[in-house]
Amino acid sequence: MISTVRGMRDILPADMERWQRVETVARQICGCYGYRELRTPLIEREELFVKGTGESTDIVQKEMYAFADKGGERVTLRPEATPGIVRAFVEHGLEQSLSVPKLFTLGPMFRYERPQKGRYRQFHQLNIEVFGVGDASLDAEVIEMACTLVSALGIDETELVISSVGCPVCRPAFSEALLKALGEDLPKLCGDCQRRATSNPLRIFDCKVPADQPIVDGLPHSEDYLCDACRGHFEAVQGYLRAYDQPFQVSHRLVRGLDYYTRTTFEIRSLKLGAQNALLGGGRYDGLVKELGGPDRAGIGFAAGLERLVLALPESDDAVLPDVFVAAIGEANREAAFVLARALRAGGLRTLVDYEARSAKAQMKRANRAGVRHVVIVGDDELARGEVTVKTMATGEQHGVARDRVVDSLLSAL
Ligand code: AMP
Repeated sequence: MISTVRGMRDILPADMERWQRVETVARQICGCYGYRELRTPLIEREELFVKGTGESTDIVQKEMYAFADKGGERVTLRPEATPGIVRAFVEHGLEQSLSVPKLFTLGPMFRYERPQKGRYRQFHQLNIEVFGVGDASLDAEVIEMACTLVSALGIDETELVISSVGCPVCRPAFSEALLKALGEDLPKLCGDCQRRATSNPLRIFDCKVPADQPIVDGLPHSEDYLCDACRGHFEAVQGYLRAYDQPFQVSHRLVRGLDYYTRTTFEIRSLKLGAQNALLGGGRYDGLVKELGGPDRAGIGFAAGLERLVLALPESDDAVLPDVFVAAIGEANREAAFVLARALRAGGLRTLVDYEARSAKAQMKRANRAGVRHVVIVGDDELARGEVTVKTMATGEQHGVARDRVVDSLLSAL
């Protein structure tokens, strides 16, 4: 038997209801907030992520499925959606064609990480992005929308954490303050942190190594180094969140993994999921569109992990059962049964049939196991009268129905 590749997962029929629930609610909410769907390719040029995600990130350094294609071009399976969406936004001049450039996409991402519960090498995200609006009211709306998504899915016991990582004006002073505060402690930190100290010192806050925590906990907070404009922006975001009655915590440790964030960052965590508890995360990335060769436009968005939303969904009795089983009694009536099944399906009924010409008893057994509500019996006597027999499984009651009335009759009985 050839099994799945490590870190890849099948999403089985038994889980599909939950996935579809998440995707349906996600689409509905995106629609309510004015987002339009777009889908970008799973394969992009490697340089898009080196530039867009950031050379110093774990994603680019260690996790990309990057390779030379048969023509020798360096390409990669996308590890995240934002750079591809920015590329599409610029490449197709979406700014001109959309009144408000609010975009969303749903689909798989690929990262060569160490697999564990809630962390896979192929996983799926809902991504939303907005371009061209720098105002704090949008940051708050994006955060509020993320919270609405989580609560519309019935997911409780979550916390919203926000932070501001500043901008190119104030960040250099903060990075410098971090390095100064680290001083002689720097060589005591893990190898990743040593690397971060030279590439992007803020990312030292991402460190999960237990031995490093006392040092990391003692470092200065970005909030204390924000320039006036960033401080005003962050206060405004918090003001709007209070107006929305949206509880939140400010955490200076929320820098998030990607290089391109500016100002607001946020994360919603589940208090029930264990180690991989980030349901979604996002923030502002005002320099990215320009960095990727587009006009100088602000950007903000979030990515929600669908696996984790599905894991955090409350249990519900959501199996979708078929409605009807069409049982043909006798070889001669099979054709009539198939034609009837087509009519039932055209009427929107989930319809099963028997393909193996089994006995009436075997077909009834199968219908019972499938959990259908009704069995439509197509037999000689019934057909001679222009009828079929409809049996209601819950009660065992059965009665004749005119063949051309059966779709309506079953639809009204559902
Ligand atoms: P990121 O793109 O790293 O900001 O992640 C955004 C969200 O995607 C996280 O909050 C997770 O819910 C989800 N996510 C990220 N990486 C993985 C992974 N390897 N497996 C499953 N979900 C993931």
